Amino acid sequence: MDIFDLLAEHDYEDLVFIHDGPTGLKGMVAIHDTTLGPALGGCRMYPYAGEHEAVVDVLRLARGMTYKAAAAGLDLGGGKSVILGDPRTDKSGALFRAFGRRLETLGGNYIAAEDVGTSTDDIAYAELETGHVVGRSREHGGSGDPAPFTALGVMQGIRACLGEVYGTPSAEGRTVAIQGLGHVGYHLCNLLHREGARLIVADVDGAAVARAAHELGATPADPDDIIATECDVFAPCALGAVVHDDSIPRLRCSIIAGSANNVLLEDRHGEALAERGILYAPDYIINAGGLINVAGELGGYDEERVRIRVMGIHDSVQRIIALSKRDSVPPHTAADTLAEERISAALSDGRPGTGPAPGRASRLH
Ligand code: NAD
Repeated sequence: MDIFDLLAEHDYEDLVFIHDGPTGLKGMVAIHDTTLGPALGGCRMYPYAGEHEAVVDVLRLARGMTYKAAAAGLDLGGGKSVILGDPRTDKSGALFRAFGRRLETLGGNYIAAEDVGTSTDDIAYAELETGHVVGRSREHGGSGDPAPFTALGVMQGIRACLGEVYGTPSAEGRTVAIQGLGHVGYHLCNLLHREGARLIVADVDGAAVARAAHELGATPADPDDIIATECDVFAPCALGAVVHDDSIPRLRCSIIAGSANNVLLEDRHGEALAERGILYAPDYIINAGGLINVAGELGGYDEERVRIRVMGIHDSVQRIIALSKRDSVPPHTAADTLAEERISAALSDGRPGTGPAPGRASRLH
């Protein structure tokens, strides 16, 4: 598809191509929507097969951030950037400084953070040239590792789902199957264990599984079979696209709620879950704790304020379940509605953000 057709399809505000000869920087910044505030999103570095692939990816990711920030109640818009290159071989401090210089010219309309293929060290180089970055380490006055807050948000989302399905939000005595014991998964296991849940865990890293078994009394499972475990909650915390035509018939859970992005291979798989009576907590709602944490750097980081906001993911998930019932739609559709309603409301009463021109109210689809 032609690039302007792609921009028109979801009414993107901006797509900026960035180039710096001396450092070899080639990248793009996509700004989808700034109705609620400046666009915030990570900077991804990836060896894209070509420019078109990079454009499609950065646009898709930027739009996803609009929905995530809006549904999380943040006064932020959606944006993302990509750098074309291999993060293992093509990085340099000079390249990220050049990236920072280009961000500075955008005047704060886009705020970058680390993402797949980039690190806080890379962002620190960009920060030498611009103030429009977040995701600094705690030592440098930043928000630090987002994973504990992502896990806390997932825990709150699980509690909301348990309340809906079993009438009580407590995880005590519930069986939770966790796929992936990385930064988020392990923190989540700790929170669940503290509340008295029975854990069944899988990871391709045997040492992580052994640790969970030893420290938390978790029962190990085969990574290929964890999705078919009989449990109350299946928590995908490793890969995306785990819910698809082949895996849906294997599921033996009542709830799917985890940190992974893009859990549904396609939207129609969310409908299939609803038909099977499995409650799905939409990924970008339940895993917003990390975004809320990093956004907390804007205006001065206050850990307690961030914690309170992340605890609010419980109520967000409850609201989405209610919307889903009201409109007889699956939760992932209700999540989109929640985000769109918030943006439409901001457009109609003229608050807050850097603000696009009036008349964009029906533009998100
Ligand atoms: P991570 O890389 O620290 O952990 C992922 C874990 O999954 C690793 O331990 C890895 O060995 C394991 N894994 C990989 N393939 C597996 C498989 N086939 N079966 C079982 N385990 C497998 O990543 P993370 O930061 O913990 O993030 C986990 C997920 O949550 C990712 O999808 C990420 O995009 C998403 N997420 C993370 C954050 C955050 O704050 N870190 C925020 C939002 C979303």
